[in-house]
Amino acid sequence: MDGEAMHGELDARAAGTAERVVAWRHHLHRHPELSNREVNTARLVADHLRALGLDEVRTGIAGHGVVGVLRGGAAGERVVALRADTDALPVRDLCGADFASEVVDADYPGGPFPVSHACGHDCHTAMLLGAATVLSGVRDRLPGTVLFVFQPAEEGPPVTEEGGARAMVEAGAFADPVPTMVFGMHVTPYPKGYVGYRTGNQYGASVLVRIVVTGRQTHGSTPWQGVDPMPAAGAILTGIGQLYRQVSAFDPVTVSIGHVEDVGRFNIVGETVTLWGTVRTAVESDMAEVRRRLTALVEHSAAAYGAAATAEYLQPVPPVHNSGPWVAAGLPTFRRVAGEGRVVETGGTLGYDDVSEFVRRFGGLYVTLGVQDAALDASGRPVPVEGGRGLVTNHNPGFYADDSALVTGVRLHAHVAYDHLRGALVVPEETPDAGDRLPARRPPSRRP
Ligand SMILES: [Zn+2]
Ligand SMILES: [Zn+2]
Repeated sequence: MDGEAMHGELDARAAGTAERVVAWRHHLHRHPELSNREVNTARLVADHLRALGLDEVRTGIAGHGVVGVLRGGAAGERVVALRADTDALPVRDLCGADFASEVVDADYPGGPFPVSHACGHDCHTAMLLGAATVLSGVRDRLPGTVLFVFQPAEEGPPVTEEGGARAMVEAGAFADPVPTMVFGMHVTPYPKGYVGYRTGNQYGASVLVRIVVTGRQTHGSTPWQGVDPMPAAGAILTGIGQLYRQVSAFDPVTVSIGHVEDVGRFNIVGETVTLWGTVRTAVESDMAEVRRRLTALVEHSAAAYGAAATAEYLQPVPPVHNSGPWVAAGLPTFRRVAGEGRVVETGGTLGYDDVSEFVRRFGGLYVTLGVQDAALDASGRPVPVEGGRGLVTNHNPGFYADDSALVTGVRLHAHVAYDHLRGALVVPEETPDAGDRLPARRPPSRRP
């Protein structure tokens, strides 16, 4: 069978799975699970992969990771890993759908939390289950091996736990067989069915920061008898705004403190204040510099108030990087699937996705898939369409994804896998890469 006929068959099979994909998505959306707690999601995935009769279904990888192995019946050595993340977020679900989540996780560290798929990983999981259905239907004609990788804890596990993409690698998920390409995608507030890509860093480097300012506890009426950590915490928060002026303004950096915890009371000067935040850099090599400057700010600001402070950096994630040769290899496939005019180069963002741990090790591609009531304006930026639900970013309680875009995701997975295995979507070994400090092709878009 030639490539064209196979592509037609993949499309027909994908259309045949559309209804089930939507049903899986609705079920997962209604029953979301937080990072490192994806017990029922993993069970649903593993049950379906077993029902498809895959060669192997490995479970319990780095927590609740699942990898399905499908060995094709035709001759071929390549191994493509298709990846979906499976976890949800501690965010209320205000998406407005009748399958909205009402789940509350009462036991999660720091909780109780409302739980929802505000990042769209329900879509990712459902689309990959669809792709597994499609590809297992043509297994006898697949010239190589497909790994279906369902990754937990993409959003970051509790800080006292291990988990996520790197933990899957360390657990040996890719030891045998070793992928020759990894492919992943993320749903975004872009026109439905559009594929977005960026050559260079699509998402930035990320690290979680925990800053602990320590003083000495005392009565609120006698602050001079203790050391108040609060003003030092305030100075750190204010000082962070100056960090931006200490690194190049041409490669974006953000430092956001999203959570402050103190142990005081209205009449008690507490012992400590803890600040939790995230550092993002568009260029990976800037991360060390920003960390060094933030640490200096933290330590010296605290000293100015007679307090002490530490900055700890946890859960580092490298940038999601698409190399030029991989993009060039992938574009014909993306255009065939989405349509010529629906594959667009987008700006980079300071979001992150730890799929970067896979793509940087084994090579491959990461794209975005539009799922909202949007159109592109003359400058290529997404704008809401009249009468639609608007543009709502990932992690917002109102984030939504339209079911009609999911079949495009199923087709993308299937076509990318088949094209790689048959040698059409590959890069020559040792192709030079421009690195991650690329000039921006256009201003950053509104994607998260
Ligand atoms: Zn997310
Ligand atoms: Zn996500």
